[in-house]
Amino acid sequence: MIFEQLFDTKSSTYTYIISSGKGREALIIDPVLENTEDYIKVLNNLELKLVKVIDTHIHADHITGLNELNKRTNCTRVMGEKSQSEVIDLKLKDSEKIKIENIELNAIYTPGHTDCSYSFLMNDRVFTGDTLLINGTGRTDFQSGSPYDAYDSIFNKLLTLPEKTLVFPGHDYNGKKNSTIEAERNNNPRLQVSSKDEYADIMNNLNLPNPKMLDVAVPANLKGLTLEQI
Ligand code: FE
Repeated sequence: MIFEQLFDTKSSTYTYIISSGKGREALIIDPVLENTEDYIKVLNNLELKLVKVIDTHIHADHITGLNELNKRTNCTRVMGEKSQSEVIDLKLKDSEKIKIENIELNAIYTPGHTDCSYSFLMNDRVFTGDTLLINGTGRTDFQSGSPYDAYDSIFNKLLTLPEKTLVFPGHDYNGKKNSTIEAERNNNPRLQVSSKDEYADIMNNLNLPNPKMLDVAVPANLKGLTLEQI
């Protein structure tokens, strides 16, 4: 299997390129617009045909590469059904499967960071977007976020996966590339709470500044802008 984890230094975003092998179909999760050329290079080097691009949620800190990649390769743009993007080709429901050749991803609706956030389970690993980060969790204070929904998504969905499941997050700000469900359950400081209210209390008092790109990225991602449109 081909599994490439690429990192955007500006927004600390992880992008994943997945394929069953050289010369086969590929999918990309959470591409960043400015890095489109890097993805195209990886695809060309491995002779991959990009067929699907997925965003885990509407991003507030970077412009998605979904639309530029669609323009360049005619791949299908995929998001969860709550996405307000105007350009999504395929909208998923909870538990729906996405297939490319013999690779299958199971969509898990995990609202909380935003109300359109999805995670994707692929065999031994789960792509958690910003719902569950390594030693952290996605903020819940804008884009229809909710700490109560986030608690349910994390505790009642993601943490019920087998404990050895690898966690591949949408961001990491400390150079970590992956974790496990077990490690997050035991060590993630945000998850050492005894109730939903306690979790909401932590999340409601983070007092984080807005992401620098918020006012640019969200409208661009809703409209589906390409490189020449920004
Ligand atoms: Fe996010």
